[in-house]
Amino acid sequence: MADSFSLPNAIREGAMSLAMSRTSPPAKAASNRSYEIGHPCHRYLYLKRTAGDQAKPIPPSLAGIFYTGSLVHEVTFKNLMDIGSATGLFDVTSREVPLDWVKYRITGHIDGMLVDRDTRQPICGFDIKSVGQKFDSLNTLEDLMGWRYSRLWVGQGTSYMLLTEVPRFANVLVRKNNLLDIKVIEYDLDFDLGESLIGKAEIVNAAVDAGDPEKAPKINDPEWCIDCPLAHICMPEIHIPEGGHIEAEEAIEAVERMFQLKPSVSEYDACKRLVDKYVKPALGPADGMAGTVKTLAVGMYQKFFKGTKRHEAARAERDTFYWREINAAEPPE
Ligand code: SF4
Repeated sequence: MADSFSLPNAIREGAMSLAMSRTSPPAKAASNRSYEIGHPCHRYLYLKRTAGDQAKPIPPSLAGIFYTGSLVHEVTFKNLMDIGSATGLFDVTSREVPLDWVKYRITGHIDGMLVDRDTRQPICGFDIKSVGQKFDSLNTLEDLMGWRYSRLWVGQGTSYMLLTEVPRFANVLVRKNNLLDIKVIEYDLDFDLGESLIGKAEIVNAAVDAGDPEKAPKINDPEWCIDCPLAHICMPEIHIPEGGHIEAEEAIEAVERMFQLKPSVSEYDACKRLVDKYVKPALGPADGMAGTVKTLAVGMYQKFFKGTKRHEAARAERDTFYWREINAAEPPE
């Protein structure tokens, strides 16, 4: 066994490789996918169809989250069936049924349908979502519309309502660390939203047919663009104001060392803590950060910070990306 062998690191790195091996590589989408049709950017949907194979691959951390979601999904489907039997109220049918609206080239796989046990009539379609920290704050349709990721869920649910012609839908939310903490957020078909999704699909289809990205407008919105996996192709016209520049030797050395040590997680974390000591005072008061994006540079490295809608001052800003070299060819992850 090599002297440098570290069992904890080997297992951690092995788990990351496993997560990546269980994720599909980026690929072009043959149609407008239901789970993304609620995305506000026409250009993003266009690029998913025409250049999806060039999308920035997801990092291992996200691949692991998706993998966890698929396991939660499996367990919850069975739990819903058990709850339906125990209550005598509903059955679960139509699991993973593929849906295809040829006219608008919208496709998806609905998680399932709840049907009345007595009448056999559909009650609603549903989609299972495993949720971490956000679980407690998502309780109503308005809550779903207030968070950009769950807004996509409503677009997805709306497209499923149109595709199945069952005008009621449910997002089944499952707490990630307690798979029997389940809540359901139901909503009816909103025809205006449905029409806007169809209109969006028509615009994207026309742009794809013409091979003309200009027919699919960009949103140039930092909230979506800064972590868009297609930003390096799209090159959005956004300006992110600079938040400051730290010159302290100690911080510069630490952030440089962080880059060298990335595979060695514990030392990396120690350097990160040191750099963070400088970052908070440099960013300034959290008040007024909500919804805004700032950059902060330490030596030749830069990081993006985005204000959240949380009110607690201590949590009012969060870092969104890893440090990256200023002017590096690679776009932010
Ligand atoms: S970078 Fe922004 S404008 Fe470009 S495709 Fe992504 S979300 Fe749309």
